[in-house]
Amino acid sequence: MSGYRGRFAPTPSGPLHFGSLVTALASYLDARHAKGTWLVRIEDIDPPRCPPGTDSRILRQLEAFGLHWDEDVCYQSTRYEAYQTALEQLIDQGLAYPCSCSRKEWQEYAVYPGWCRSGVRHPERAFAWRLRSDLGERPIVWQDRLFARQCFDPAELGDVVLKRKDGLWAYQLAVVVDDGDQHINQIVRGTDLLDNTAWQCQLQRALNLPQPHYLHLPLIAADNGQKLSKQNLAPALPTDDKSVRRLLHEALIALDQAPAPFLCDAPVSEQLSAAVAAWDSIRLQPHMYRVPPRAIWTNK
Ligand code: GLU
Repeated sequence: MSGYRGRFAPTPSGPLHFGSLVTALASYLDARHAKGTWLVRIEDIDPPRCPPGTDSRILRQLEAFGLHWDEDVCYQSTRYEAYQTALEQLIDQGLAYPCSCSRKEWQEYAVYPGWCRSGVRHPERAFAWRLRSDLGERPIVWQDRLFARQCFDPAELGDVVLKRKDGLWAYQLAVVVDDGDQHINQIVRGTDLLDNTAWQCQLQRALNLPQPHYLHLPLIAADNGQKLSKQNLAPALPTDDKSVRRLLHEALIALDQAPAPFLCDAPVSEQLSAAVAAWDSIRLQPHMYRVPPRAIWTNK
């Protein structure tokens, strides 16, 4: 095994769809091609948004596509203590502050204007914890493996929430703490998270964690041109063998890997071993891939 450590980190708010398959597959192939370790982390920090049983459905979907992971699956719902420790470290450095403002109060602004930075405005209310994005390292510059040099000023993106008013942990803090604790050094995920990377790098610096390499993938659009997502009801990935073989082939096409057409109906293990051997992230194009409707509806 090489020192490569990657992961797929689904939020179990719904089953995987074709877009999530493309993300999972790219991160799997990138890790396996590098003879690295590939982990699965279930990002279940928001229980009201995660219907019971969705996590195991996701794991069954991954298995049906032959995407077998190393090590135990990590559940973010078991990691609250680690997030609390990280938050305390940020508070000690003056990089996190309590905020009692409601979304409605700052709705005219593009990002939260930082009113509670110098003291909580409404001490009688519940409060969230926010990042002092203006005080951390900025700008944040990194070399994305697909989108090349990226430069963001986190202060322009705003003081992101680290812990919500209702006590739930926010994605930005949880993802950084877990990637750090799991020694993840290669992150392959959707382009929708590209700008979030700036806050995450700022948090890594503050928490003294190494910065992983990033590869943000092209987005997958539905047939109507919209982003394929749980919100716009992308169909769940089927798990019957015939559909799985076709969809795996389609996912490889979406990743610009030009799989041999004769492999289209080949068993999953055969398609995957060819794809691992041939994986070349340089082939990825930053375009939007439109899923042919037959690709997502083969479970008829
Ligand atoms: N849990 C996030 C999602 O499902 C992905 C997090 C990540 O890859 O950093 O969109």
